[in-house]
This record gives sequence, structure tokens and C-alpha cells, in this order.
Amino acid sequence: MEKKTVYNFSAGPCILPKEVLQRAADEMMDWHGTGLSVLEMSHRGKAFVSIAEKTYADLRKLMNIPEDFTIMMLQGGASQQFAAIPLNVLPDGGKANYVTTGQWSEGAIKDAKKYIEVTECTNNKDLKFTGVASQDTWKVDPDAKYVHYCENETIVGVEFTDNFPFEKFAGQLVICDMSSNFCSRLVDWSKYDVVYAGAQKNVGPSGCTIVIVKNHLLQQRPSKICPVTLEWDTFAKAATRFHNTPCCYAVYMAGLNIEHMLEKGGIPAMEKLANERSQKFYDYLDNSGGYYTNNVDKAFRSRMNIPFRVKCNDDLEKKFVAEAAAEGLVDLAGHRSIGGCRASMYNAMPIEGVDALIAFCEKFKAANP
Ligand code: PMP
Repeated sequence: MEKKTVYNFSAGPCILPKEVLQRAADEMMDWHGTGLSVLEMSHRGKAFVSIAEKTYADLRKLMNIPEDFTIMMLQGGASQQFAAIPLNVLPDGGKANYVTTGQWSEGAIKDAKKYIEVTECTNNKDLKFTGVASQDTWKVDPDAKYVHYCENETIVGVEFTDNFPFEKFAGQLVICDMSSNFCSRLVDWSKYDVVYAGAQKNVGPSGCTIVIVKNHLLQQRPSKICPVTLEWDTFAKAATRFHNTPCCYAVYMAGLNIEHMLEKGGIPAMEKLANERSQKFYDYLDNSGGYYTNNVDKAFRSRMNIPFRVKCNDDLEKKFVAEAAAEGLVDLAGHRSIGGCRASMYNAMPIEGVDALIAFCEKFKAANP
């Protein structure tokens, strides 16, 4: 029986390249002649250590990560870093600036407030998170040690590309949640001190969180109340940067996908495709005569996650999502907190996926005027 083509628009865990999944399947029962599956290997054994070290090295190459940053692959999700950040960066308490542009940066500030004094530079809830308030209105604590922001808000589809106002925070450390756009464009590492990202978008399956920390921050001990499993320096010093048992299979899968991205032309190729995919879909939405709408300020529209409404009608949206799924366009419902629809288009989404989505949108529009 011929297999139906399915395009997965999930926000994460999400689409992964077929070639990567096939390779994992091929290697499942016997990794490189060891007679073992990666699922049953010791994380301290030679085979898995070689997998992890190659993954770190390939990621460094893919993202041009300078040697003065340490790469770690940790558990607990990006959410766990919301607490790890203040506990590691400000061991004796202190002050930080937080920029709130959506639900994920809201999560980060909520945890930070438990441990340190926080200035919320802006909170764009008033704009229903459809944009970023004019930077003239931002409140900045000049004595704060660091600023935290989220580069791509996965739920509302608001992304900073080259328009984050770093100059407002001169002299402060910059800490960024890049969970949902990491590996979709190059990072200017001279601007950052900590970058973290849950792997389950562009990089791999869920289960490991990439935490990249500038080495000077690993010289200090974290707060006394920091749980050991959140101590960056403890992991950085441990063999293979694993203080305890890592999520081995997620690290392995991320490694396969990172290798695949390198083979496919690296980040410039991923960025080009991300721009093409998102531009095509935004152009379609904007020219649909108001049938489909995305209200995000054009300067901050996400290239990864595109929320949209169908005639602003909840019932029609339910129908849209169900009928699309029946045609192999899956996971187009918006996040449960805001409803509507959302198309997430990560690195593994081919342009044909967007074409198929647009063709379906046209058909749906004609059938439901
Ligand atoms: N930050 C962003 C931008 C996210 O999209 C997510 C998850 N979707 C998180 C943080 C939280 O990640 P996790 O579920 O891995 O804790």
C-alpha cells in the first residue's frame, strides 16, 4: 500500500528529517557493529561517549560556537533553565532585566522572581503579544547583572531577528532562550553569555536541552540553594559533561540531525529555507482577503511558528484543523492557551509542505465561504 504523505506542523516535539529517522531505524538494533542499541548503552561507555563528543563537536561546527563557550546537553527542559539561570548567574542574589514578549518569557520571569530582584523591561500582554512595545517605553535597570529574553515566542509567533536592542543593556550579560529558533540562523556569539534551547524543535527529539555557557560563568559556584542537577559548573566539569545519567537517546538523535544539517549546507541553507517557507505562507495569509489572518507586527513575525485565524471563527477553525489532518496536514491547532490555528515550520519542513498547506487553505476557503 502506498504511504500517504504527512506534513507535521506541530510546535514541538515536531517534524524531523526522514533521512535521520531512517538512519536511527537502521542503527536501532546494532550501533556500528557493537551489537548494542544506543538505548541500552552505558553513558560512560566508549561507544556512547564517542557519540556525545561528536555531537558537541558537530554542533560547535554547525553554529560556529567559539571555544570560550561550553556546550551542555541537560535534562529538565528549557523550563528548568528558568530557575537555573538566576541560581547560577547570581549566586548571592542581585538584579536582572527581563523582557516579556510571550508565554515563555513570562515563565522565565516568574521563576527568576523567586530568587532575585527583577525589572520587567516591557510586558507586551497589552498588545495581546502581537508585537513588541516601542523600545522607548522599556524600563531598564542599569545596575542589573544580566538581561534575559526569548528570541522566538513559540505560542504567539513573535521573533526577534536582528532587532533586539542590545545597546540598551550595554555592560550587562545577555541570556537568551532560543528554544524554537535555534539552528535556523547564525548567532553572533559576541553578543551572548548564555544561550539555551530545548532540542525538540529544530535540533532533535524532546529530552535534552542545549545549554551553552560562556566559560567565565562556570568559574563561580552557584547559589547554595541551587539543586545539584541545576549546577552548570558541576556538569561542565564532569566527564563528557554528564554529572548524572543523561537522556542518551535524545543526545544521539540530536547528533544525527546535527550531522544531517551540516551535510545539507549548514545554517545558511536552513535560514534560506526558513525565510522562503514563512514568507510564502505570510504572503498567502495577507492576500486571502481577510479570510485567514495573522495579527503579529510584521517586524516581529516568527519564521518558525505562524499563528493564524480562520475568519476569526472558533467552529470553523475546529473544522479546518480536522479536515486538514484528514488530508495529512497534522497538528495545525493553536496552542491550547490561545486557540485558533498555528503552523509551525521547523528546519525539516520542505517547501512542498507549505505548498500543500496553501492548497488546502484555498480548497477550504472555497468550500466554506
Ligand atoms: N521556551 C520556548 C521558547 C519554548 O517554545 C518552550 C517549549 N515549547 C520552552 C521554553 C519550554 O521548553 P520545555 O518544554 O523543554 O521545558
